[in-house]
Amino acid sequence: MGKVGFGVAVGCAVVTCAIAAVLLGRRVQSRRKWRRAVEMLQEFEEGCATSIGRLRQVVDAMAVEMHAGLASDGGSKLRMLLTFVDNLPDGNEKGTYYALDLGGTNFRVLRVQLGGRGSMILSHQVKHHPIPQELMSGTSEDLFDFIARTLKQFVEQEDDGSEQKVDEKKELGFTFSFPVRQMSVSSGILVKWTKGFSVEDAVGKDVARCLEEAMTKAGLNMQVAALVDDIVGTLALCHYYDKDTVAAVVIGTGTNACYVERTDAIIKCQGLLTSSGGTVVNMEWGNFWSSHLPRTSYDIALDDESPNSNDQGFEKMISGMYLGDIARRVLYRMAQEADIFGDDAYNLSIQFIFRTPLMAAMHEDESPDLREVRRILTENLLVRRLIVRVCDIVTRRAARLAAAGIVGILKKIGRDGSGGVASGRTKGTPRRTVVAIEGGLYAHYSMFREYLNEAVVEILGEEVAQNVVLRVSEDGSGIGAALLAAAYSSN
Ligand code: ADP
Ligand code: MG
Repeated sequence: MGKVGFGVAVGCAVVTCAIAAVLLGRRVQSRRKWRRAVEMLQEFEEGCATSIGRLRQVVDAMAVEMHAGLASDGGSKLRMLLTFVDNLPDGNEKGTYYALDLGGTNFRVLRVQLGGRGSMILSHQVKHHPIPQELMSGTSEDLFDFIARTLKQFVEQEDDGSEQKVDEKKELGFTFSFPVRQMSVSSGILVKWTKGFSVEDAVGKDVARCLEEAMTKAGLNMQVAALVDDIVGTLALCHYYDKDTVAAVVIGTGTNACYVERTDAIIKCQGLLTSSGGTVVNMEWGNFWSSHLPRTSYDIALDDESPNSNDQGFEKMISGMYLGDIARRVLYRMAQEADIFGDDAYNLSIQFIFRTPLMAAMHEDESPDLREVRRILTENLLVRRLIVRVCDIVTRRAARLAAAGIVGILKKIGRDGSGGVASGRTKGTPRRTVVAIEGGLYAHYSMFREYLNEAVVEILGEEVAQNVVLRVSEDGSGIGAALLAAAYSSN
């Protein structure tokens, strides 16, 4: 070999060694990054642990907080609001009833025809209307006049002459999903607006009377028979079909629950008498908190950066608005500390970019190479598996905590099989207990639903769980309100 040839060979060897060293270095570095990512995953998983022991503590905490919230106003983070609904529809209602559902940028008007015993809902019509932007921050009069005029048009369109007496006052259920201080089943004072509304002169007024005045002005002979929150509508609808229904839970964008309580257990309202001996309590359970809830640094950061920090703690761990963002925070931190995403990490820094349905799509990706995850986030198969794992941890924790919340309600009313005066057993026969569950997270995210159902059985035990039915319910905020109008009709 000549000098030149030798020199080239040495040069090549040096370059090869250098490349090998770089590759080895990268592999070591990438192994180190990977190890860090796996460590972070394990830490997160431990932080989210929901052992059966932990779930039982949450069950007890829920029942204790319910007691406290019923003992005095402000006694608990659970507000335990009286709804004054003490008679739920049971299928015997008859006639034509209307409902108005106002809870966001759209409102719905409905008409329901009920056939009485056995024949159930004969027909129902619904119409959606957007609320003009300027009315959302205008005057109370303009807003309610608009709603009343729209309602009148609907009534005239739908009136097919089937209603017996033309001059008879029509009855309306009004679902108003904003914070209200209820005074009776058909009246309540608006505490504050949320969800983009700021019709300031309505705050402090009875919204049912505002609507009735507007209806009279519009020439509509109609009265508000029931003013309700949407969760109560869901309970009413499910109870209409199944009289064993004792509670309703919504798990969608947000979360809430209501249930039927014995009036003598509501200490903050002593002397409250109802014909049924029970009344529906709106728990506002999104605000539930207990030190037994498994909270991680990601939950704390999410809360700190939210506009309502220190509020709605339970909701922030279990509802659709937040689950995607918890997962995003974990993945983003992995991207920063372990650098496993490369350029894909950029988007992960944006709050709420990772919506819960997207997370569900990745979580439920059953293709062996996780195609859906690749489409959404990354080329690297191992990283894709890691992402699915993160989604699973977040969702499993949420579903199991929601299950513990539900069992907490059952415990409070003696339907959890644990015995006691009001226990679910009369003369040795367990009582069938139905809980209505509504909302997109439970209805459409099958892994969430399975984890929740499974956890309820795990906490209650197979035998007791046989008598507990979790029933997916339709959104009852409209029809449920019309049914309540029927139950409270003065006709
Ligand atoms: P809302 O709570 O606003 O009344 P829904 O009950 O329909 O509305 O719930 C919608 C929420 O449910 C969405 O914000 C989303 O978080 C969640 N969701 C809907 N579909 C899915 C899905 N396929 N997978 C996971 N979450 C879903
Ligand atoms: Mg809803």
